[in-house]
Amino acid sequence: MTIKNTEIQELLVGVDIGGTNTAIGIMDVNNKILFEDSFFTLPENGVDDFFNRLTNIIKKEYEKFKPNYLLGGIGLAAPSANYLSGAIESPANLKWGNVNLIEIMKKHFDVPVVILNDANAAALGEHNFGAAKYMKNFIVLTLGTGLGSGIFVDGHLLHGENGLAGELGHTIIDPDGRQCTCGRKGCLETYVSAIGIKRSVFHFLCNSDDKGELRNISYNDLTSKKISELARAHDPLAIKAFNYTGEIFGKALANVVTYYNPEAIILFGGLADSDDLLIDPTSFFFDKYLLNIYKGKVRILKSELQNGKAAVLGACSFAREIITKSIISV
Ligand SMILES: [Zn+2]
Repeated sequence: MTIKNTEIQELLVGVDIGGTNTAIGIMDVNNKILFEDSFFTLPENGVDDFFNRLTNIIKKEYEKFKPNYLLGGIGLAAPSANYLSGAIESPANLKWGNVNLIEIMKKHFDVPVVILNDANAAALGEHNFGAAKYMKNFIVLTLGTGLGSGIFVDGHLLHGENGLAGELGHTIIDPDGRQCTCGRKGCLETYVSAIGIKRSVFHFLCNSDDKGELRNISYNDLTSKKISELARAHDPLAIKAFNYTGEIFGKALANVVTYYNPEAIILFGGLADSDDLLIDPTSFFFDKYLLNIYKGKVRILKSELQNGKAAVLGACSFAREIITKSIISV
C-alpha cells in the first residue's frame, strides 16, 4: 500500500445547501480557507437553476486558482441527504423531491463528489475544526427550522445501515402532540427548534391572559431571535417559552446519553444563539433526568464555529476523507 504524494496541490470545495441560503467554501489540503461566500438558494426556481448558479461560482473561482491547484473533490451538505445513494430525499424546505445531487455535479466536474446530511456535515466540521476537536464521542444538534443531529461514536461519524442514522429531531416525545412535517405527531423538533419555540409561544398565548409584546406579533413575523430579545427584557411569556423548551430538550438529551455515552453535546444554529436562555433550563432538566452513572461526565456546549461554517468545513472534510481512502486503496 502506498500513498501518492499528489494531494499537496489539491483544492476541496464544500457546499452547505440550506432552504434559504447556500454557503460555499474552497479549502486547500492544509485546511486553509481560500474562498468563502454565500448566496440565496431560491429553491422555488427549481433544481436546475440552483445548480447552474452553484457550478458557475465554483468554475469561476476555480479558474483563479489554476494552474497551481487542482480540484480534488466536492462535498455537498444538504437536508435529508443520503451519502450512500447520493440523493436528497424530499427535504421539506427544498421541495425538489428526490434528486441525485452527485449525478448533477458529475455532469460539470470530473472529480469525486460526495454528499451528506447537513447535520452530519456540521458534526464533521465541529470534529475537525470546532468544539469537538480531539473528541471521539459527541453529538451535534442543529437547532434551525427543524432539529438535525450528527453523531460521532468511537471516533467515527455514525451513518447507519441506510445512511440515515441520527434523526433525533423525529424522536416522538408525545404521540398526541404537535403535528410534525414527517406526518407523525409529537416529534422533538416540533418543540425544540426555531419553529418549535414559536409554537410554544402561541400555545402559552392561547392558554393564558399574560400581557406583553408577544401578543402583538403575528406568527409569521415572530422569530426565535425576537423571543430571545423579549426574554432578555424579562418578558414572562418569552421566558416561559424558553423554560418549557429547555425542559423538553433536557429530558430528551438525558435519554440520548443512554444510547451513545457522549463526552459532549454541541448545540449549533439559530436557536442555540439564545445561549443561556436555552442552555440553562436545558442543563437543569438534563441533570435532573440523567442516569446516575453519567452525572458530571457529559458537557452541553455551544458550537465554536460561525453559523453556516461548520457544515461547509464538514463537507470539505468528508470529500477529503473519501479521496484519501481512494488514494490509499490504489
Ligand atoms: Zn417528525
